[in-house]
Amino acid sequence: MSQQPKITVIGSLNMDLTVTSAKRPAAGETILGERFETFPGGKGANQAVAAARLGADVTMIGMVGQDPFGDELMQVLRQEGVKTEHIGRADTSSGVAVIQVVDGDNSITVIPGANFKLMPDYIEEKRDVIQNSEIVLIQLEIPLETVAAAAKCCEEANVPYILNPAPAQPLPYEIINQAAYITPNESEAAILFEDTDKALQEFPDKLVITKGEEGVVYSGGHVAAFPVSAVDTTGAGDTFNAALGLMLASGSPLAEACSYANAAAALQIGSHGAQAGMPTDAEVIAFMRQKEENPL
Ligand code: ADP
Repeated sequence: MSQQPKITVIGSLNMDLTVTSAKRPAAGETILGERFETFPGGKGANQAVAAARLGADVTMIGMVGQDPFGDELMQVLRQEGVKTEHIGRADTSSGVAVIQVVDGDNSITVIPGANFKLMPDYIEEKRDVIQNSEIVLIQLEIPLETVAAAAKCCEEANVPYILNPAPAQPLPYEIINQAAYITPNESEAAILFEDTDKALQEFPDKLVITKGEEGVVYSGGHVAAFPVSAVDTTGAGDTFNAALGLMLASGSPLAEACSYANAAAALQIGSHGAQAGMPTDAEVIAFMRQKEENPL
């Protein structure tokens, strides 16, 4: 990449605690699982790492706790080249996600902890950082009032933001309308909009719905995913959003940006954990070239 787009991510940092088992325990049942692992995660941190691996100049705005998980989460971001000086420390536990993996499918419980201490006044303090970005990535693992403050700040600074409405919740119309792009997956889209087909027409080239192995749809059409066998889909959407942001900040048209983002996500789901398999720009380009030459 000739120049590094400046991306600011406003969102969550979590430690993911992953339990892998052959089945899900029923209420009141105890089972033996196969494996326990910890992975740094949180949609915000994931998107920050994905964007940095792809070559962006990334700054993260977020909040961790004053606990060892907080230290580790910051350390991991620094190792990835993400700027962490605008991540605050709240007097509570760091965010944690307990992830149960069965047959490659995830059930997730999120304890927001410090992520819910990220308040609108903190965003206000970071106005300069937002103003200096080419694109901002926002998700919904922080308080909605903070999302609204971030959206307002972007709007006032004339900086486009991609809203990844995950985990889904109904949103004020303004937050959707002011977004340059909004990127729900299918189930999130169904929570946000009564009629997704109508919504695609109402928000042309803004609403981009990700559909797993089917790729993405937006008003202008469909962009196919790259067929791969999924090992762990945690972080697929995060990789997709970071890659989309990077390409759009670099001036790519939406269809091209979606295809690149599909390729980045396809590469990412080949490994366990959200951040482990996140590809570099060179890996995405090589993968796309290889798929072009040999589609299956
Ligand atoms: P989320 O991970 O947020 O639930 P999706 O399941 O829609 O969202 O996945 C996001 C993107 O990841 C998809 O648009 C696609 O590019 C890619 N992806 C997800 N699952 C697969 C898969 N099985 N094969 C290829 N690509 C996939």
